[in-house]
Amino acid sequence: MTQTVTDELLRANERYAEAFTDPGMDARPVRKVAIVACMDARLDLHEALGLELGDCHTIRNAGGVVTDDVIRSLTISQRLLQTRAVVLIHHTGCGLHGLSEDFRHEIELEVGQRPNWALESFRDLDQDVRQSMARVRTSPFLPHTDDVRGFVFDVTTGLLREVDPAGTPGR
Ligand SMILES: [Zn+2]
Repeated sequence: MTQTVTDELLRANERYAEAFTDPGMDARPVRKVAIVACMDARLDLHEALGLELGDCHTIRNAGGVVTDDVIRSLTISQRLLQTRAVVLIHHTGCGLHGLSEDFRHEIELEVGQRPNWALESFRDLDQDVRQSMARVRTSPFLPHTDDVRGFVFDVTTGLLREVDPAGTPGR
């Protein structure tokens, strides 16, 4: 029988569980921070930011876009699990950078149904981070919007660069 990737993951989990001891934590993130980041496979948030198990909430999707569903998770994170800071991380070489909205149209032609979600592709990386910061800061559902910072992770150097929320679009 051929092993699928999921079978490999399950074997790894057995090894993980053997060495695992109950950390005795509750669900509230120790460092009271929620991180919204792109799902990109090159971005290891815990390693890149010095995070330990239990430190933070991580909310990830294609682009690290602040969608309604991300606001839903942040609302639960802040109101029920006491996080206060929000860190947004987009990155160089993102698959959404420069992707045409034709992508949705092509899907519609193929499957006969228009996706009901926005693609959220972008042309200006910094402006995309600013847009995400603005969506968090202006959300009426979030009680804590005074510590919201946005960054670009460089997938070739591993460094974060902060984006000035007051900057203007480059193009
Ligand atoms: Zn990405």
